[in-house]
Amino acid sequence: MKEHEKLLAARYWQGEAAARRVVGFRCRRDVGHGLLRPARTGGRAVMVCDACGFVQIGVPQSIVDVWRLVRDRAGD
Ligand SMILES: [Zn+2]
Repeated sequence: MKEHEKLLAARYWQGEAAARRVVGFRCRRDVGHGLLRPARTGGRAVMVCDACGFVQIGVPQSIVDVWRLVRDRAGD
């Protein structure tokens, strides 16, 4: 899977989470820090906490699968 797709999927998912339509990825050090921000580090898709610098490496396959379904549907 391409890292670019992972990044797009993470942006989509966290955007949906910000709109309270899904449960998004949050900081694992402190849930009060809020939603993680999708970013790219060394060519890899990651999610970063801007409050404390926590970094979650990678994007779950399930999120990418959902993003692909939505993307393909939007193309109809
Ligand atoms: Zn944090």
